[in-house]
Amino acid sequence: MEKQGNIQINSQNLMPIIKRWLYSDKDIFLRELISNGCDAMTKLKKLESLGKAEIKEELCIKIDVDKENKTLSITDSGLGMTAEEVEKYITQVAFSGAEDFLKKYEDTNGDGIIGHFGLGFYSSYMVAKVVKIQTLSYESGATGVEWESDGNETYSIKDANLDKVGTKITLYLSDGEEEFLEDGKLRELLQKYCMFMPYNIYLNYKDGEENKPLNNTTPLYLKDPKEVKDEEYIEFYKNTFSQFEEPLFWLHLNVDYPFNLKGILYFPKIKENYDINNGQVKLFCNQVFIADNIKEIIPEYLLLLKGVIDCPDIPLNVSRSFLQNDREVAKISKHITKKVADKLTSMYKNEREKYEKCWNDIHPFIKFGALKEEDFYDKIKDIMLFENTNGKFKSLSEIKGDGESEVKVYYTSDRDMQASYISMYEKDEKEVYYLEHPIDKPLINALEYKNEKLKFSRVDSTVLSSEDTTISEEEKNSIAETFKEVLGEELNVKIESLKDESLPVTMLLTEESRRMREMLAMYGNPDMLKESEKDYVLVLNSNNDIIKNIKNAQDKQSVVKFLYGLAKIQSKKLSASEFKDFISASSELLKKNV
Ligand code: ADP
Repeated sequence: MEKQGNIQINSQNLMPIIKRWLYSDKDIFLRELISNGCDAMTKLKKLESLGKAEIKEELCIKIDVDKENKTLSITDSGLGMTAEEVEKYITQVAFSGAEDFLKKYEDTNGDGIIGHFGLGFYSSYMVAKVVKIQTLSYESGATGVEWESDGNETYSIKDANLDKVGTKITLYLSDGEEEFLEDGKLRELLQKYCMFMPYNIYLNYKDGEENKPLNNTTPLYLKDPKEVKDEEYIEFYKNTFSQFEEPLFWLHLNVDYPFNLKGILYFPKIKENYDINNGQVKLFCNQVFIADNIKEIIPEYLLLLKGVIDCPDIPLNVSRSFLQNDREVAKISKHITKKVADKLTSMYKNEREKYEKCWNDIHPFIKFGALKEEDFYDKIKDIMLFENTNGKFKSLSEIKGDGESEVKVYYTSDRDMQASYISMYEKDEKEVYYLEHPIDKPLINALEYKNEKLKFSRVDSTVLSSEDTTISEEEKNSIAETFKEVLGEELNVKIESLKDESLPVTMLLTEESRRMREMLAMYGNPDMLKESEKDYVLVLNSNNDIIKNIKNAQDKQSVVKFLYGLAKIQSKKLSASEFKDFISASSELLKKNV
């Protein structure tokens, strides 16, 4: 038989899509051809199980490079195609043999057939000027077929003398696409797209020699979680993500109903400056790599994790944007969120020590998730931990207690800058919590909004004072006057009796003013960021001897200025002129002592 014919395009919308591909990710042609080959082998296996075919060869993919002729070929030992099938499935672009096969064997389990990428085969024209198909169907008495086309309008098809069932696709690479002949490039692509494909893939297979497949046909996530050891999880993590560091812990997803989903999510150590791009959740469909970090399926905050998710049910299509509005996709994403929350809750309940140990590495993503998704917040709110300056962890529910009475949570946003305040609280036996991460600011606002009785107060926004009976109101006023005389009448000054006798002065910025300023800065009003002396309150400690005796100071001017500088230094970075004033007041005082 020999004949010439026209390729039929069934839908007018197809060509633009192919073209869009042309300009996007060329590399995927290899994935498309290999997954077609895998499909063909899965079909053959199925036919064998039904007693309709016989498998004579190892089911595998062989990729061969011919540098001289600039060809790349992909050979599979799948079910092959008859001439009619080539005509139908290849030349009529919009037909999918996968669909037909599943329909025909509807009563059998069609699992494992990928097929739904749509135009897979034609993506080979992104890199090839001519493509040749040589195929022999498993059907008894079938004749080999050779089909060839330049991907424009015409093709040729003829009988061929082939002895092995299966399909060989040969790409005559276009000029400029020679990189696909390079060993390094091919290995990189195979590693990316085919690392878990279900049949062995060999590059430049040599008969009679020991050939090593490039992929792992039984990735760990497919196994029953009960049968997997910790070491295996760690090894899989290191290999899949080229990591040296071990993950903190992981979550093995294994769902059969109401949709199919398998995968492992790893919680890595998150670096100080966390960045969503550090995470990597690879999405697979029946062991075929689809893409990294697909936001529609993996909730955004989980993109800080590393992992693999295999979901045969996702409605894949030519364009990824089709995913967005799918209800199925939303369900999957919801499920993942629930599983992650369950895992964290079970750790909190059953492995509290480990949970606390991991907390500082994982808290940014948990908080990010809580802020991003109401659902996630509801699930983890009670197990959110807070570390105090004694190194003890308490959960939000432990801090809140019965939830009936108002609870004040004192916190520091910078343990070094606010050290003197922290020690003031510690002397008062009050707990101070570390909330130092940038995410803590919005978190505090959200927690207060959702928990009426909860109030957060930064250590430098208020002092814990006690009633002082040793000093009269009159004396207090006179001390305040002394400071105002030197520093100006408009000075905000307060006299309090602090437990820490050694501390003469401190400076406060109220929680409200600070938050107001932070909020305005966030909305980009830079003027509001400028500090004003009026925002601050100078606190004089009536329990401290220097303050008590300030009236008797020899050089009141220098002592007051020095103390003012000392107070400022505790709360903020001094400006150049403030710093100069402080140095000169200090040296005046020292002068009198030498
Ligand atoms: P899809 O894989 O989405 O169906 P393709 O354009 O990649 O779309 O392939 C169209 C059809 O051609 C397939 O469904 C299959 O029936 C047939 N086909 C493609 N490649 C092979 C192959 N290597 N072996 C057997 N049949 C194939």
